[in-house]
Amino acid sequence: MNTTTVLETMFSVHGRRPLEAQFNEYLKVFDQIGLNDSVKVFEHVRDKEDKFPTIRQMRGIIGNLGIWGKPKANIEYDDCYYCQGVGYIPYLLSPKKDKRISKYTIVVMACKCSAGQDLPEDVERYFDTHKSVQFEEEEGELKDVAYPVLVTVKQTEFNKYLRSKE
Ligand SMILES: [Zn+2]
Repeated sequence: MNTTTVLETMFSVHGRRPLEAQFNEYLKVFDQIGLNDSVKVFEHVRDKEDKFPTIRQMRGIIGNLGIWGKPKANIEYDDCYYCQGVGYIPYLLSPKKDKRISKYTIVVMACKCSAGQDLPEDVERYFDTHKSVQFEEEEGELKDVAYPVLVTVKQTEFNKYLRSKE
C-alpha cells in the first residue's frame, strides 16, 4: 500500500471518481504527511465525514488529528453546485477549436466559491475566463446531476458523435 492507493480508496468509498488534476492536488498533501498519517486521515474521512472533504477541509482534519500543528476549529462545508465543494470545475475543450487535441478533453479550473479561492494561484479561475458555465442545467434525466458529472456526460456524448463521423 502507498499514498496513491490510500487516496484512491478514499475517493472510491465516497463514490467519487476524481479528475486527474484534482487527484494530484490531494496526493501532494498525502505525500507531505506520509503513508501512516494518510491512513489515519482516510479512516477518519471514511468513518466520520458524510461528505468528501475539500483540500482545505482535509488540511483541517489533519490538524484536528494532531498530525501537524494545533487543532483548528472545524471548517464549514460549502455546498457548491459547480464544483461540489472540491474547488475544481471541469471545462470541456473542443477539438474543433483547439487543434492540439483530437477529441473532447476536460481541463479543470478554479471555482468562485471558497474552496476554489483556496486553490493555488496558478490554477486558472473559471469565471475570470468565462461569464457563465459551459452547460446549462438540463431537464429530464440529467436534471439533478452535479455539474462536474454533467460535463463528463457531455464529453462522452460528443466524443461518441465525433467517432461516428470518422
Ligand atoms: Zn465551487
